[in-house]
Amino acid sequence: MSIKVNQLSKTYGSQKALNAVSFEINKPEIVGFLGPNGAGKSTMMKILTTYIKATEGTVEVNGFDVNTQSRNVQASVGYLPEHNPLYLEMYVKEYLSFNAKAYKVPKDRIAAVIEQTGLTPEAHKKISQLSKGYRQRVGLANALLHNPDVLILDEPTTGLDPNQLVAIRTLIQNLGKEKTVFLSTHIMQEVEAMCDRVIIINKGKIVADKTLKELRKNKTQTIVVEFDYRIEDAFIKRIPNVVSVKNTYEFVYEITFDTIEDRRPLVFDFAQENDLKILQLHQKTANLESMFRTLTQH
Ligand code: ADP
Ligand code: MG
Repeated sequence: MSIKVNQLSKTYGSQKALNAVSFEINKPEIVGFLGPNGAGKSTMMKILTTYIKATEGTVEVNGFDVNTQSRNVQASVGYLPEHNPLYLEMYVKEYLSFNAKAYKVPKDRIAAVIEQTGLTPEAHKKISQLSKGYRQRVGLANALLHNPDVLILDEPTTGLDPNQLVAIRTLIQNLGKEKTVFLSTHIMQEVEAMCDRVIIINKGKIVADKTLKELRKNKTQTIVVEFDYRIEDAFIKRIPNVVSVKNTYEFVYEITFDTIEDRRPLVFDFAQENDLKILQLHQKTANLESMFRTLTQH
């Protein structure tokens, strides 16, 4: 059992940051912990990594209790905190050696994590000279030093530019092949891009726990299209996968399909074949996104 959280609550003064949270992660997989700001994600992660104590409930990491076996838990987890605190004046190698010594990790791990996180070309630089993407790699390298089974990554991709984002996602996905990765994010696309499973938290409560496979199954998509003249609904229903058609305004139609595969190309072909001109065409909902919105509203 990698992570086992049972009826966990945490209050700060009078505020309940976590409210009877329970979930389990049993195998090497990448689990996204998704929720809006203030939902309780960082609080959960600090408890999992023994930085703070829960008010109620139990937590086991790799079979060890966070309260009574905190050293074993620390040996089992690698943690990338939310704001990735680095010593900017240190050189990459110097920083990693410093931490390797502090954690009593064999020296050869330094070269191993530099290689593993793709830091080799930047390893001789000062941390202050690195881009945000490379700083995240240093944080990940640091979390990997003692070769933990479980990685806890608090918003690892927040604030990265699109290229850095792709690189860090790929790195995390590779790590997830052999380790349990529990990562938080407030951005749905990150879950869709990286995770096998998503646990959604809102106001300290778990509101969904599903595999991405389950989420993608039975999903629909709605496309909004505007033609240059009126067309019968029945005619539109000839496009494969159409389940319903709604004429919302003049020549504007909302077409719902029972698939998440992008159906805009089919709508485009349909228009061409029928000598219709398309005045606008867009997907109304990205599925996970609308689910996230629904689940985290009110
Ligand atoms: P998230 O990481 O999902 O944004 P946090 O776990 O940081 O959420 O915070 C959850 C709630 O707990 C928020 O309302 C936040 O203001 C509150 N909180 C977090 N840390 C503290 C603290 N040290 N003292 C008081 N309240 C806190
Ligand atoms: Mg946070």
